[in-house]
Amino acid sequence: MTENKRQLRVRTFSFSLATPYGNLPPLSIEVPDIPMGLSEVVPLLYELCDRCVDIACKHMKPGEKVTCSKGCGSCCRQVVPVSIPEVLFLRSFLDRLPSEGRECYQSRLKTIVDSASRNGILPALENAGSDHEAIAAAEAYFNQEYNCPFLENGACSIHAVRPFACREFNAISLPELCENPFINRVRKVQVVPKMTSVAARFAAKLLGEPPVLLPLVGITAKEEVQQSWDGAFSGIELFEVLMNSFTT
Ligand code: SF4
Repeated sequence: MTENKRQLRVRTFSFSLATPYGNLPPLSIEVPDIPMGLSEVVPLLYELCDRCVDIACKHMKPGEKVTCSKGCGSCCRQVVPVSIPEVLFLRSFLDRLPSEGRECYQSRLKTIVDSASRNGILPALENAGSDHEAIAAAEAYFNQEYNCPFLENGACSIHAVRPFACREFNAISLPELCENPFINRVRKVQVVPKMTSVAARFAAKLLGEPPVLLPLVGITAKEEVQQSWDGAFSGIELFEVLMNSFTT
């Protein structure tokens, strides 16, 4: 990745990601040195994520193909992990919706959060101390058959702003195997790097905290935590940190 100073208060950042399938063509963005929040990198990361998915799909083995189709939605009953920048971006997206649509989504989110809190699944996810505990909590969540609050008529109603984890989920095994991914072996297109992890590392570096992932259904649940994430940073500092967040 390269970086050029064009003028005093605007810098051009050029993101050229290395993937196992080859380097992506550079994607340049002009960043003014004005205060910016963590969510302002999300549109760029959506674009990079989609490009990583494209190149990975182009390098599938002969005979492989993506088997996801409209109306399936099995993956939309899983816990979807989202990073802090995505939480802030999606909250802002919801805030800008007309009140009817916003309230509908908020009500669906609350219904699931209330239920999954009562039955202990969200606390188990939040407090999982090992991969084993996290997988057990994720399986318990899946078994509750909560449809994602953004799933409508078997399709994603927020397709343009869906989380990185959703963008990267492209099954190549038989669709019926997705009906229980905790029993069956669901094979997926291998997308690298995983943008959820990149965004979580980016937020952790800026905030000086360990990386945090939340379940998508919890994006509106934690007012008090969200406030501490809502600071402004120098735009140039923000994108410098982002450039250093693609590798561990
Ligand atoms: S955000 Fe969209 S793609 Fe992701 S789980 Fe929800 S409905 Fe499915």
